[in-house]
Formats: sequence, C-alpha cells, structure tokens
Amino acid sequence: MPDVIIIGAGVVGTSIAYHLAKRGCREVIVLEKDYIGSGSTEKCPGGIRQQFSTETNIALSMESVKFFEHFEEETGHPADFRQHGYLMLATSEDELATFRWNAHLQRKLGVEVYLLSPPEIQELVPGINTEDVPGATFCPTDGYADPYSVVSGFAYAAKKLGVKIHEETEVTGIELIHNNVKGVLTAKGRFEAPVIVNAAGAHARIVGSMAGLDIPIHPSRRHVFITEPLLNSPGRFESLKRRNLPMVVDFHNGFWFRREGSCLLFGMRNPDEPEGFSTSVDWQFLSGALAEAACHRLPFFTDVGIMRGQAGLHADTPDYMAILGETPEAYGFYLACGFSGHGFMHSPAVGRLMADLILGQDLLLDISSLAPDRFQRQLRPTESAFI
Ligand SMILES: Cc1cc2nc3c(=O)[nH]c(=O)nc-3n(C[C@H](O)[C@H](O)[C@H](O)COP(=O)(O)OP(=O)(O)OC[C@H]3O[C@@H](n4cnc5c(N)ncnc54)[C@H](O)[C@@H]3O)c2cc1C
Repeated sequence: MPDVIIIGAGVVGTSIAYHLAKRGCREVIVLEKDYIGSGSTEKCPGGIRQQFSTETNIALSMESVKFFEHFEEETGHPADFRQHGYLMLATSEDELATFRWNAHLQRKLGVEVYLLSPPEIQELVPGINTEDVPGATFCPTDGYADPYSVVSGFAYAAKKLGVKIHEETEVTGIELIHNNVKGVLTAKGRFEAPVIVNAAGAHARIVGSMAGLDIPIHPSRRHVFITEPLLNSPGRFESLKRRNLPMVVDFHNGFWFRREGSCLLFGMRNPDEPEGFSTSVDWQFLSGALAEAACHRLPFFTDVGIMRGQAGLHADTPDYMAILGETPEAYGFYLACGFSGHGFMHSPAVGRLMADLILGQDLLLDISSLAPDRFQRQLRPTESAFI
C-alpha cells in the first residue's frame, strides 16, 4: 500500500511527489486524469515574481526563486530560468502608493526591488508608452522559467526516487471511514493510502466534493497569445533586441507581455469573464479589449500579426491565496490548490512545505494564513497584487 496518493500531475503535484521522495517517503503514487503537466501548467507563460502584497506570498516566492536558481542541480533537469526581472506599471498615484507600500514590505523581507520613474521605464523597455504611468516597481531577480521543463524535471526526478505516476487515471471517488481517508476510486481500479493530496488545480473543488468538502476555488479562463517574429523587422520594437527584456505587467488591467525568442508572448485578464471550465480561445476578446490595451501600451502593436493563442484556467480563491494543509473535516486529506495565478512560481516551496507537513517535520515558513479552514475567519490577509 502506498503511503501517499497525490491527485494531479501538474507542477504542484509533481513537486510534492519529488519532495516527499527526497525526504525518504518513496511509496508515493500520483494519479493524473490526462498526462503530466496537461492542466494549467501547460498553458502558463512561466512568470516568477516576488512582488506580492502579503508576507506569505513574498516568502513563498523567495524560497521558490532560490530553488529555481539551482533547479538543474536539484532535479538533474534544466528549468530555463531567466532572471530578466518583472516590471509592474502603476497607472495612478493611488496604485503607485500601494506599490511603494508593497516594495517596502518586500525589501523588509529581503527582496531587491526598485521604484522607477517614467524615463527609467523607457530606458528598460524602449518604445513603451508611459504617458499614463507615474511610476513602476522593478525586481531584477524575478523572471520566468519554462513550465514544461519544470514539471517534467520534477516528474522525472520523482520517478527516479521511486514515485509512480499513473497517467490517464482519473480519480472518480474518495473513500472515507469515520472521517479518515481510506483510498480513491478510478476507472482503472481502487488505490488505498492513509494520506491523499488534492493537487487537482482548477478541478480541485470537484475532487474535494468527492470527500464531502466545498473548497472555494473558482476556475477562471486566462489567455496567452504569441506574435509573429518581430526581431527582424527593424524599427518596430527596438527593445526586443535586448535579450533581457523583463516581464512587463500593466497592473490595473492585467495586460502583460514578455519576450519569447523573436516574438512577444502576451495576455490580459478579462473582467467580464464568468467562472467556468472553458479553455477555448476567445478571439473576440483578442480583437476587442486586449488589442486596445496592447496598442495603448505598445503603439507598434497596431500592425503586428498574431501566430497563435491558447487558454487555460486560474484556480482563484476569494483572497487570491493558495489553500495548503490537512482538512479538519477529513483526516489524512490534504489540499494543495487554489493557487490563483501563482502556482507555477510557488511550486518549489509548496512541494517542500507539503512534504514536511505530511511527514510531521518542522516547516520552513509560517503558512497559517493558507490553512483550509481560514475562510471561516472574519479577518485574514488578502493578496492584492494578483494579475
Ligand atoms: C494563461 C495562464 C497564465 C498563467 N501565468 C502564470 C504565471 O506567470 N506564473 C505562475 O506562477 N502561474 C501562472 N498561472 C497559474 C499556473 O499555471 C497554475 O497556478 C499552476 O500551473 C497550477 O499547477 P497545479 O499543479 O496546481 O495545477 P494543474 O497544472 O492544473 O494540474 C492539476 C492536474 O490535476 C489533474 N486532475 C484534475 N482532476 C483530476 C482527477 N479527478 N483525477 C486525476 N487527475 C486530475 C489535471 O488533469 C491536471 O493535470 C497561469 C495560468 C494560466 C492559465
């Protein structure tokens, strides 16, 4: 009988499996309904930032950045982590005041972060429109990594340590005896273990309902588009020639872009998007609100061709903070879900924390603000720097 069953082989489930196995818990199985990394992980552009508003999220990012910096030494596989920085643009004095406050907290915790003026922003990203931007924050150790490399790196390293990953094995039920988890049901048979981890991403609420829980996770569609190659069309976007172009985020509407080879990757949240599981591409959104935001920030965008688009799901919680820990209602049932838009970047620290929590070891960080029962509390921290 395995010691631990993990539901979901995304970047979170595979990181937990790797960290458990590394600590000597090798009877671990991961059950995945499709294939490794096929959920939100595969759709994510891989952004990694330490610029958050809550101490917990900043600390999760800082620990994860340390891990990403040594990912290949740790797992034997490259993560392609590029620390080109994150530039967060404010479009009002109020927003800038919030950024100042966040930067103060980030610095207090040890993050290197700077406030930039409009001329400094233009120096970093030539061609960007700053007419409505009073300032920005920039953290040079933020950046992005390749999600496919990271999830497969965790998965291969976990397998090497004895973890078994079963793909095309959907969990359809969870068995409980006297509020203790006993096992799971799948189309390929029953699996038993005293510990079950729900790492099912945007589907974690459905998996939670199999154990009688109502986990407040709201799936919300997010898009990523990629432009035609721009590097060889002189004068269109000079800053593409800088290999270290940062990830740029227009904070008020969530429009973001970063370099991908000689193209730009970009996206934006859609405030009118209803909750749901659709991952089809909304091309009208591209040609409407998104085109408007993109052409405003990057005026050369008016005549740029788009090669491809894809959509995936954020797993939003009411406070945009993850849910980590054992549930009080079902003993042995652990949640590692609700990552909103930051599960990829937090996956290394979350894997370690979940492994230590399950094995009863001391925790690296205080994660009480992420406890599954926190939603009953009146006052709790809320992440305001979500994208
Ligand atoms: C467009 C977009 C942009 C994003 N940008 C960023 C970013 O820049 N930085 C960042 O950190 N995060 C970003 N995110 C969020 C990030 O992708 C997620 O937080 C992260 O991938 C979550 O990983 P996960 O392992 O929890 O979930 P997933 O990758 O979704 O993995 C969950 C797995 O569980 C499986 N599963 C579900 N139900 C069952 C079941 N019943 N039985 C078995 N298996 C099941 C699914 O098939 C899936 O493979 C973005 C997301 C999107 C969509």
